[in-house]
Amino acid sequence: MRVLLVEDEPDLGAAIKRTLIQEAYVVDWVQDGAEAEGYLESSWTEYTVAILDWLLPGMSGLELCQRLRSQNNPLPVLMLTAKDRLEDKVMGLDAGADDYLVKPFGMVELLARLRALRRRSPQLEPTQLQIGVLTLDYNTRIAYLKDATGESQPVELTHKEFQLLEYFMRHPNQILTRDQVLNRLWELGAEPASNVVAAQMRLLRRKLDQHSFEPLIETVYGMGYRLKAPGKSK
Ligand code: CA
Repeated sequence: MRVLLVEDEPDLGAAIKRTLIQEAYVVDWVQDGAEAEGYLESSWTEYTVAILDWLLPGMSGLELCQRLRSQNNPLPVLMLTAKDRLEDKVMGLDAGADDYLVKPFGMVELLARLRALRRRSPQLEPTQLQIGVLTLDYNTRIAYLKDATGESQPVELTHKEFQLLEYFMRHPNQILTRDQVLNRLWELGAEPASNVVAAQMRLLRRKLDQHSFEPLIETVYGMGYRLKAPGKSK
């Protein structure tokens, strides 16, 4: 499950990102409305939900939401704002937001609202992702890997391993750098620097390689990692 988070307050954005990552969401955090529009134009289908702050540099969250809806884009939107007057809420909902959260709010409430949005939009909530010999089940959080005999072997994953594998499966055959992985799946400054990605990659690959004839995720020396998926260009 991937979230586009558009919030220009650094502390709040970092706190939300940290919370979502702990709940096994994958988070793209941007701080500018115009930049967010670029993300949504090129790849809105990759997201399960967008969290838009109302007041943003570049373009307001309200305008961004209006633009999405004018293009018939159904992506669920949760608006965040310090405005708490009734007419502001009405304006936000009229702009096409699905729900509305007034600052300051508790992270528990944010998570509850997100769960509700996901339930309302089952078409945007995939139950499985299948790439090559790998299938990821979102409900059970188990990966299935076809072994050499063609039989599917379950691979139990931790939250972080699940997020990592999902990220690679969404970008098959692409080299993903350590920094890209770090930026997507870890909160800023939370880890004491460099080795966390390599360590998690090692754990994930060890699990996958138990059932695989050859390594599924390869190290591209000096560049990053790549999930090999024959026949899938992207
Ligand atoms: Ca703001």
